[in-house]
Amino acid sequence: MRFLVVGAGFSGAVLARRLAEAGHFVLVVDERRHMAGNCHTERDAESGILLHRYGPHIFHTADREVWDYVNRFGRMMPYVNRVKAVSGGRVYSLPVNLHTINQFFGTTMGPAEARAFIAAQARGDITAPANFEEQALSMVGEALYRAFFRGYTRKQWGLEPTALPAAILKRLPLRFSYDDNYFSHPHQGMPEEGYTALVARILDAPGIALRLGCRFEDLAEDVAHVFYTGPLDRFFDYRLGRLGYRTLDFEEIRAEGDFQGTAVMNYCDEAVPWTRISEHKHFAPWEAARFARTVCFRERSRLAGPGDTPYYPIRLVAETRMLSDYVALARRTRGISFLGRLGTYRYLDMDVTIREAMDAAAATLERLGEGGPPPVFFTDPLG
Ligand SMILES: Cc1cc2nc3c(=O)[nH]c(=O)nc-3n(C[C@H](O)[C@H](O)[C@H](O)COP(=O)(O)OP(=O)(O)OC[C@H]3O[C@@H](n4cnc5c(N)ncnc54)[C@H](O)[C@@H]3O)c2cc1C
Repeated sequence: MRFLVVGAGFSGAVLARRLAEAGHFVLVVDERRHMAGNCHTERDAESGILLHRYGPHIFHTADREVWDYVNRFGRMMPYVNRVKAVSGGRVYSLPVNLHTINQFFGTTMGPAEARAFIAAQARGDITAPANFEEQALSMVGEALYRAFFRGYTRKQWGLEPTALPAAILKRLPLRFSYDDNYFSHPHQGMPEEGYTALVARILDAPGIALRLGCRFEDLAEDVAHVFYTGPLDRFFDYRLGRLGYRTLDFEEIRAEGDFQGTAVMNYCDEAVPWTRISEHKHFAPWEAARFARTVCFRERSRLAGPGDTPYYPIRLVAETRMLSDYVALARRTRGISFLGRLGTYRYLDMDVTIREAMDAAAATLERLGEGGPPPVFFTDPLG
């Protein structure tokens, strides 16, 4: 059959490859002039450094099949994400670990002592945290919350932490050891030649045709089914309103040598308007010494307006209500399936994106085998 996949990010590429491997013809279009969606990397013309154009992307997963899949298309180099944070004029290590605790409180506690100390700081009276702030206070207490979470969260989301769901913080680990690896997954790494080269290899298969710089809205192709990884509200021409996103502004810093000595430095204080600075040569430690110059992105977050790149879905009560109306509308539409971070209006890490695209391909092939159309959603956006 002849299919159309809208979007050449991980969602579109993995799905297209699986359908092509099953003998179908797949036209993949993307309005951008590059592949890999928001994971796009490219060599900087001036310095030669591999830049993560839409913000830093570190691959990490507990899904062995996904890990094997990315390794099939690109060599994954060892990389451990160790984030540093500036708070109150000092530098600490994140996520909050034994080093952070001892530095912050000027102590030399061991794990058990620190655990008891933090338990005494934590607000034991909050047994069922109703929001982000209560969750943080119940985990780490007032001092660490104010130093590391409050200002950063207000800058990142443009909202009071009391207006954000508690679930956001459940994902952030608190460690009573000196383990400062930001992620806990067993597999972590960076593609040696960047994400765009890796996605290009996924899309390089008989049966796949790729058209970059091509908007879905401008196409008049006759296809059996469309797989859409663009924004759900955009597909319906925003007829029910715009789903809210945060967008990011990146201010480039160019310098000689080494700017900050590490890949990611968060800025937790509200008085500093940016949320973090990422120094891109440190994302590729195996080649960093080769570059005499350095390139950093100073990152700020704000509400996305029309025309801005949508980054983080906001998904509060109003957005969830609108999403539910869009989902109902989509379910009444024929000939199309929605997937990916924009098609389902969810934050998805790359490994989850790939897993969902693999599962979507399997579900599609199964449905086709039964003589029926693929489902409108493979994962419930409201689930
Ligand atoms: C700042 C930031 C940092 C992140 N860091 C990490 C990280 O460290 N590790 C991790 O695992 N994940 C990270 N992620 C998540 C990662 O970016 C996503 O998992 C991934 O981009 C999802 O891929 P996708 O294909 O679903 O969407 P996208 O990458 O957004 O691809 C969708 C594509 O569709 C195209 N498109 C949309 N509409 C149309 C249309 N109408 N016509 C034609 N083309 C269209 C777009 O141009 C885009 O290229 C991060 C996300 C953000 C926002």
